Amino acid sequence: MHVTLLAGGVGGARLAHGLDLALAPGSATTGLLTVVVNVGDDVELHGLAVSPDVDTVVYTLAGRGDEERGWGLRDETYATLTALRELGEDTWFTLGDRDLATHIVRTARLRRGEPLSAVTAHLAEAMGVRARVLPVTDDRLATLVDTPAGRLGFQEYFVERQHTDTVLGLHLDGAEGARPAPGVLDALTADLVVVAPSNPFLSIEPLLAVAGVRAALTAAPGLRAAVSPIIGGRAIKGPAAEILESLGHEVSALGVARLYADLVDVMVIDERDGDLADQVAGLGLRVHVTDTVMGGPAGRERLARELLTLV
Ligand code: GDP
Ligand code: CA
Repeated sequence: MHVTLLAGGVGGARLAHGLDLALAPGSATTGLLTVVVNVGDDVELHGLAVSPDVDTVVYTLAGRGDEERGWGLRDETYATLTALRELGEDTWFTLGDRDLATHIVRTARLRRGEPLSAVTAHLAEAMGVRARVLPVTDDRLATLVDTPAGRLGFQEYFVERQHTDTVLGLHLDGAEGARPAPGVLDALTADLVVVAPSNPFLSIEPLLAVAGVRAALTAAPGLRAAVSPIIGGRAIKGPAAEILESLGHEVSALGVARLYADLVDVMVIDERDGDLADQVAGLGLRVHVTDTVMGGPAGRERLARELLTLV
């Protein structure tokens, strides 16, 4: 079975890991799982091209991610960041020494003219990842966040200001001209396409904004499922609940289901939200109720296996 996951960072990476385990336990088989990843968070820091969501997915699939924080590499050191600070650089964005090697290689290859998708394939392969990790586009696409303090760059909003500003709207800079990276539209013809429990506005919307992606998902021949990132009215991590609220949506798995009702066949909601199942079904969706909290690898694999049985 071929499976494609549409993903942001943490929630996407966790489910990607589960699907990778469920599809090819212990084997080196490649090509069964494609993860299409958001690049709206990408940022240039200290002259280096940083792709946080792509790296979170790659590091997690490589088994090298810092599981507690949800981003970066495990067992990192920060000598370079300390030195950068001493040289007068702004260091609000934490970059570990080994993580910096990723950004150096990415930047060098991009400068040589390689597209981001090819660079990502190289980095994933070098780290032993068997799934295909595809940035949604090789073109520039930057999520800008409109707040009472004005329009902020994504990482300025998310990391520097710790997503404390109320989100009044989002602007996807470059979306009009962004074309899908090679393989992205084709990946949407998989037997199963899953919208990860990622932030619907910050992680999934930038994927759908790339030319042809929303239409390809709407017309996808396989089964399409979405997993709610909202459990019991709250996000496990990050500002998804606050943004649903400030943009006028219901802060619940039902609110998420309404956003995806025209795009998916099945909505997967947490057992804590079982009382919403009828209302989600009322949107014309199949509903699957289960434990959607992906703690360790076992929980991720279990959720992924349940998704595979939906097909
Ligand atoms: P980011 O790019 O790192 O912010 O990550 P994503 O957009 O991919 O993920 C953030 C979302 O993942 C949040 O809304 C969380 O509620 C959700 N999330 C994280 N872990 C889990 C989990 O184990 N289960 C579910 N259902 N959602 C999760
Ligand atoms: Ca992200």
